[in-house]
Amino acid sequence: MVNLTSKKNINDRETNSTKQLKGFSTKSIHGHEFYDPELGLFKVPIYQTVVWEQFDKITGLPRKTSRETELKYSREENPTVYALEKVLAKLDDTEDALAFNCGMAAISTIYLSTLESGSTILISKEAYGVTQQLALNLGKYGVKTLFGGPNTEEIIDLIDDKVSLVVVETITNPLLKVIDVNEVIKVCKENNVKIVVDNTFATPILYRPVKNGAWLVLYSLTKYLSGHNDVIGGSVAGDKETIKVLWDWRKNLGTIMNPFEAYLVIRGLETLEVRFIKQCENALEIAEFLKDNPNVEEVYYPGLKDNAYHSIANKVFEHQLYGGVVSFKVKGGKESAFNFFKKIKVIKSTPSLGGVETLATYPILSASKSMPQSLKEELGITDNLIRLSVGLEDIEDLKEDIEQALKS
Ligand code: PLP
Repeated sequence: MVNLTSKKNINDRETNSTKQLKGFSTKSIHGHEFYDPELGLFKVPIYQTVVWEQFDKITGLPRKTSRETELKYSREENPTVYALEKVLAKLDDTEDALAFNCGMAAISTIYLSTLESGSTILISKEAYGVTQQLALNLGKYGVKTLFGGPNTEEIIDLIDDKVSLVVVETITNPLLKVIDVNEVIKVCKENNVKIVVDNTFATPILYRPVKNGAWLVLYSLTKYLSGHNDVIGGSVAGDKETIKVLWDWRKNLGTIMNPFEAYLVIRGLETLEVRFIKQCENALEIAEFLKDNPNVEEVYYPGLKDNAYHSIANKVFEHQLYGGVVSFKVKGGKESAFNFFKKIKVIKSTPSLGGVETLATYPILSASKSMPQSLKEELGITDNLIRLSVGLEDIEDLKEDIEQALKS
């Protein structure tokens, strides 16, 4: 059996020096463990190939990765993707991780591998609309969906041993409520219920769900972890056994990430910490700026001291940072919101988040579009609500752009 860590194999190498990585950025830069001693190469190449020679010429046995899976076909394993997975596992302090071709591929793989006819899935009321919609679609196979929340206590109230799977987001979207995930995990454990935490908005810099007892952590890598609005991807990290099961489902569903995307995410992760910290700082400044604007009705940002979720954030997050997304309601309803989107110049109107560009989103036509109408009304996701993913532009340029768009 060929271990991919073996120096004989050019496809996946590591040095002893990369095994003792401590700091977050050190892990995000060196955690792929790739090193080719023949070339002195420490950057992960793009292995743009489908096939590998299945039998190793030295041992005569099937070529295997260090997770004991065969390396022969890129729908199953690819060394560029595998190198990314090593970084992801380290950043969340988990045993293993898998990369998928988008966040929804990660979610659908978890759903299909975990749920069966008669299962009940409990999802946060303010979770990403497509995550909710997919669960509702599984109703045709006999899966029941419960919506709980949006606050911690209301999620916890619905957890009992009849629930098979709980899905929560650390910071909800679009109203940016912070969930006391540690409390939800505690109740899940008491009831023997599996919990998946979608940590896309918080990133492993603010919170590490599996380290705090969650079953799995999930990311849309499309957002902060790749960070440049040029990659679609997803990931799941957790214990070795579960990841093996998910690996098999990923192979059967065909939801693995492509090597080029994996390369871009590896590159994006190298600057995750500096990017995210700066985006959090910019977001706080924009939230405070919006609060003072006479054309703004309400600002939602957990970093504001008078925000209802500020104290939960301080309790749960590892740093006094509150994410890079700010939501606000404009005075004047839908017309004013549309006017804002029309007038912004530096900021672009589009549904995503987490990249270097500042993006303005209209939640009722994007993240919350597939959310049932009654839920939107109940949560206050209205037609004057705008969500900003604050990027890395100069803060004064962003303020000026927002000011002129709100004025007109
Ligand atoms: N989870 C959250 C919180 C999201 O915001 C999104 C997408 O916006 C997803 C999951 C799905 O990710 P993707 O678009 O990469 O499939």
